Amino acid sequence: MTDSAVKQRVQELRALITRYNREYYELDEPSVPDIEYDRLFRELQQLEQAHPQLQSEHSPTQKVGSKPLDAFSQVAHEMPMLSLDNAFETEEFEAFARRVEERLDSASAIAYCCEPKLDGAAVSLLYEDGKLVRGATRGDGQVGEDITANVRTIRNLPLQLSGEFPARLEVRGEVFMPVQAFAEYNEKALARGEKAFANPRNAAAGSLRQLDSRVTAQRPLHFYAYSMGVVSEETQLADSHYQRLQQLQSWGLPVSAEVKRVNDASGCKAYYADILARRDQLRYEIDGVVLKVDSIAQQQDLGFVSRAPRWAIAWKFPAQEEMTVLKGVDFQV
Ligand code: NAD
Repeated sequence: MTDSAVKQRVQELRALITRYNREYYELDEPSVPDIEYDRLFRELQQLEQAHPQLQSEHSPTQKVGSKPLDAFSQVAHEMPMLSLDNAFETEEFEAFARRVEERLDSASAIAYCCEPKLDGAAVSLLYEDGKLVRGATRGDGQVGEDITANVRTIRNLPLQLSGEFPARLEVRGEVFMPVQAFAEYNEKALARGEKAFANPRNAAAGSLRQLDSRVTAQRPLHFYAYSMGVVSEETQLADSHYQRLQQLQSWGLPVSAEVKRVNDASGCKAYYADILARRDQLRYEIDGVVLKVDSIAQQQDLGFVSRAPRWAIAWKFPAQEEMTVLKGVDFQV
């Protein structure tokens, strides 16, 4: 490709991805399957890496999500809510694990916390003196939407913590619609002549961003915590991500039973294979697994790049279906 052809392709890709981001994050109405989006995103990343002069902080490869909707009050995140880098093939996971080893230059094997990649919407929950005082979407990573009234309706999400909880605790996790509940909800909606949701991810994100929380309350949403954000300083936190998840659980926050700590990168591969084999038996939809360096000290050494931590990777499963297409059905947004 000539330089000008490369430049033109980069511009095309940025425009396309920006449009798809708006459809997906702002309108909850994607027009292309994730596999197609991921392919274009990867192509843009590769072109930018091969032609550093074309890199730009305005490129979608440097950004998270999309700006918050005006209909909601805004919440500035005290710690940015980032995305995750992706691996699609075993070799890509292996390359990630090698980079981690090289950067940490550690004599011993590196332990990982392995988690299902829940396919819903990321939220930040703030607890003060054990009470849920605020819920927010990820938004563009810096500023999200205030969805406090809506998250308060999620039945397995505690409004009050228990045990020896910190005075101030921000919890991060995923709100999702379990597959069975999703199917039942859609069936009833169609019977009432209402619109059905295109997929559980779309259902969770759309339900969370309702202006009337009574509507959200009727949606069968669930929550699983997967990390901590800001935590008041006097709290004794474990140096292990896995143990921090146990701490969250001890304060009453739900965590997926599939979370597991493994001793090294080969343990991550076994975890990926095991969850992939059981994917269809899980109560919720997942699109892969998330593998996180377990030691918090090592996470801090590795740090972040613009949109994702260097200490974690989302290893995606092969696409199950191109896109849920129900002929003759009008999808809800
Ligand atoms: P992502 O979904 O690839 O990964 C980051 C997100 O994973 C987090 O924000 C969190 O919400 C979620 N997550 C689930 N389980 C987690 C766990 N255990 N630990 C940590 N995080 C966990 O990133 P993204 O930036 O939200 O979205 C990018 C992806 O969305 C793309 O790869 C594509 O598949 C899809 N997308 C599709 C379109 C489209 O038009 N079809 C448009 C934009 C994005």
